[in-house]
Amino acid sequence: MNTEVIDVEDVSPRIKRIRLAGQALVGLDFEPGSKVKLRLNGSMRSYTPATWDPAAGWVDLLFFLHGSGPGNDWAEVATKGTDVQVFGPKSSLPPCHRPVSWAMFVGDETTLGPALALLNALPPECTKLGAIELDRVDTTCVARLGLPLTPVIRTSERGEALLEWLDDLQLPDGDGVVWISGHHGSVGRLEQALAARGLPASSVHTKSYWNRPKDRLR
Ligand SMILES: Cc1cc2nc3c(=O)[nH]c(=O)nc-3n(C[C@H](O)[C@H](O)[C@H](O)COP(=O)(O)OP(=O)(O)OC[C@H]3O[C@@H](n4cnc5c(N)ncnc54)[C@H](O)[C@@H]3O)c2cc1C
Repeated sequence: MNTEVIDVEDVSPRIKRIRLAGQALVGLDFEPGSKVKLRLNGSMRSYTPATWDPAAGWVDLLFFLHGSGPGNDWAEVATKGTDVQVFGPKSSLPPCHRPVSWAMFVGDETTLGPALALLNALPPECTKLGAIELDRVDTTCVARLGLPLTPVIRTSERGEALLEWLDDLQLPDGDGVVWISGHHGSVGRLEQALAARGLPASSVHTKSYWNRPKDRLR
């Protein structure tokens, strides 16, 4: 699909919201948690629609500017009028289709998009909680995006701050759903920690979003 950048916002120093619009997006209703692929500087990279408007034909993506790479470098300089090819959408993290009394999202800076899409799709009476691991410089992005999640500051090892947050958490009563995403190693450790708390595997959805280039995650 041919799209064009129509708006750019610095949500926090390293989180950028980029709005893409195009005729092909008119009438396209994304499933919460689904992914799209973009051709950026000649390479295909995966991103997650955060919010969208099928009537107006736009979608917002939240880019984490982690340092360097075709996706990172494109997002750093993208401005109004930049053209971009979008492929998909394709299912990725599944939305929750059954009634639940609580929903939890745990992830890192790359998962702000799915957190918004998946949690916003739930009814207001569902209790929403969770945490996003990030560096201190970006902590304000969680509140600015209106996410009902706790920002936790990354320590030396990725995922450690999230594991500590989870250790201190009393899980709500009743039937719940959990999504865990972001850094590959952190996702595995968090999944194990939740299993040890007795949560049924059918209630926990995981998706690794990034790791080393040699075992890139689709
Ligand atoms: C289904 C899916 C949906 C995704 N949605 C989003 C999204 O909405 N927003 C978003 O920001 N990302 C998202 N990601 C993650 C994103 O695709 C990766 O971070 C990707 O590697 C970025 O490409 P790049 O070209 O910037 O860096 P690459 O060329 O892939 O990597 C360059 C270097 O940067 C490192 N690196 C990559 N990502 C990170 C990171 N997050 N932190 C630190 N180092 C990193 C790599 O290990 C490598 O050393 C998603 C991934 C998947 C699989």
